[in-house]
Amino acid sequence: MSPVLVIGAGVHGLTCGVVLAEAGRQVRIRTAERPRETTSAVAGAMWGPARLKPPERVLYWATLSHAEFTALARDENSGVHLAAGRMAARTDLGDVVPPETKLIPDLHRCGEQELPEGFVWGYRGTVPLIDMPRYLDYLLARFQAAGGEILLASVSSLADAAAESDTVINCTGVGAHELVGDPGVHPVLGQHVVVRNPGIDEYFIELSEGGEFTSWMPHGDRVVLGGISVDHDWRRTPRAEISARIRRRVAQLEPRLADAEVLEETVGLRPGRDSVRVDVEHYEGARIIHDYGHAGCGVGLSWGCAFEVADLVEES
Ligand SMILES: Cc1cc2nc3c(=O)[nH]c(=O)nc-3n(C[C@H](O)[C@H](O)[C@H](O)COP(=O)(O)OP(=O)(O)OC[C@H]3O[C@@H](n4cnc5c(N)ncnc54)[C@H](O)[C@@H]3O)c2cc1C
Repeated sequence: MSPVLVIGAGVHGLTCGVVLAEAGRQVRIRTAERPRETTSAVAGAMWGPARLKPPERVLYWATLSHAEFTALARDENSGVHLAAGRMAARTDLGDVVPPETKLIPDLHRCGEQELPEGFVWGYRGTVPLIDMPRYLDYLLARFQAAGGEILLASVSSLADAAAESDTVINCTGVGAHELVGDPGVHPVLGQHVVVRNPGIDEYFIELSEGGEFTSWMPHGDRVVLGGISVDHDWRRTPRAEISARIRRRVAQLEPRLADAEVLEETVGLRPGRDSVRVDVEHYEGARIIHDYGHAGCGVGLSWGCAFEVADLVEES
């Protein structure tokens, strides 16, 4: 049996690698970028309501992932911790909340006095926050400890992959646009400003239909500030005017972050798609198991998708 070939070393490639390698499979990852260079490394990141399609499967993946991240929060080397905070909006989003919010043990509707000025709706609750650079290091170490091999090497085509292994897991994120030729996958650019933490321990995220919103997520001595979503923008260099707007909006809501020292500015391309793709394609004698298109929620769905991928591998 040839080793399972995983393409990609973002959160999906590494999590699939961990699940398969720990189940005793021989696994090789080929990736165009190191884990810390991927979009996954840029994510905020929180486990949260996903609002993606298909809704029943997303709920299933989110539920399994919530359990894994909650358990990982007990391991201080994982980069995962549980944090309280608020999800809020400037318009009334009503009483109907996504079903996965029932997993948040202490969720409650915010009173007016719990919301910043200009906000009229919000919930407060404790969720897993994931410090992505550290977490990707953790996953990589766990993958290698289980015997996994990782190669810094692009895959030029699905035929190239199928020639190497009869079981291929495609975790290429927005790269699936080119590798699979899937026109439905498109970049949704995001940018963050990472600052030294002046003492923040709660997260905040603004739910908004517009392209710009306000968020902060603390990870020990760093806080990740956001945010922005720009459809169909492939540029991967931070833009000063976007960072300035992020800082201005954050400072208005949380003055302690106004003068925090900037550590870095980061850009990532969320893999936008009408619905998440986890399925099997038969291709030139190989089975290609696709796992991509998780838009702005790929971290929070990663364990559930990886468990489903592992089930699909075993069905062969
Ligand atoms: C600003 C921002 C904030 C976010 N916040 C959150 C959040 O709070 N919570 C959340 O759940 N999600 C969040 N996300 C979304 C999340 O980051 C993505 O959904 C997730 O990282 C996608 O992971 P992935 O492994 O599929 O793709 P990626 O991380 O993009 O990894 C793709 C991998 O495939 C490799 N690759 C691509 N093409 C090839 C090829 N031809 N050959 C070899 N290798 C290839 C790449 O090199 C890379 O290793 C955020 C994203 C951004 C940008």
